[in-house]
Amino acid sequence: MTAPICELFSSLQGEGLLVGVRQLFLRFAGCNLRCDYCDTRYAWEAPESARVEQTPGKRDWEQAPPEMTPAEVAARAQHLLRLAPGVHHSISITGGEPLLHADFLRELLPMLGEMGLPCYLETNGTLADELAGVIAHLDFVAADVKLPSATLQAPLWGAHERFLVTMAAHEDPNRRDFVKMVYVRRTKEEEILRAARLIAGVNPNLPLVLQPAAGDQPDIAPTPNQGLDFQAAALRHLREVRVIPQMHKSGGWL
Ligand code: SF4
Repeated sequence: MTAPICELFSSLQGEGLLVGVRQLFLRFAGCNLRCDYCDTRYAWEAPESARVEQTPGKRDWEQAPPEMTPAEVAARAQHLLRLAPGVHHSISITGGEPLLHADFLRELLPMLGEMGLPCYLETNGTLADELAGVIAHLDFVAADVKLPSATLQAPLWGAHERFLVTMAAHEDPNRRDFVKMVYVRRTKEEEILRAARLIAGVNPNLPLVLQPAAGDQPDIAPTPNQGLDFQAAALRHLREVRVIPQMHKSGGWL
């Protein structure tokens, strides 16, 4: 079995509740969505070659064939870990949408677990059945709830609800879950409230990270006051709501 890989490298987590920790990043190619604000469009399709860092943080890329087996990915991750012992907090499994490769993940995640590497899934939060097949191997789930005002795509409320219900049905005190929601200047408070009610209907204790769309798209970048207002609105339904921008962009991290 193989899956299309875009890149594997070592960097700092720039989003969400684990912002600032050092991680390996494994980016899969392929996505089932087409969000307007997407900053990883290069991961929508399989690349001609995958770029794989040879030394953690040195950006000394090897161009490799993108189709890799789980054993090959695990070996490349192991190589990076051995060169920087004790440095990496976890591996971010990202994309694109990594759950499009759930069968592959069912083989890969146990291998990463045996290496002592906690697995952090970054997902668009729409593929509940695929999540159910791999969630037992995950240590962190960062699930998006996509706002139609931000994606400019059809609403996904039903898919997100099924995803959150699946997370809740597989509750594990050793796994840390949170929801991330990107908002843009055209996002309105009523949409934030609808999303917060949806999350609270499944689990009001699930932390929510509100993420302003990145500053590299100034026409959609929200105002500072939107963050304050949206946090206050979401806190009517949820116990923990933080506003965290994408730190890897302001920090110049990859
Ligand atoms: S789900 Fe993520 S990778 Fe896919 S289009 Fe949206 S932002 Fe881009």
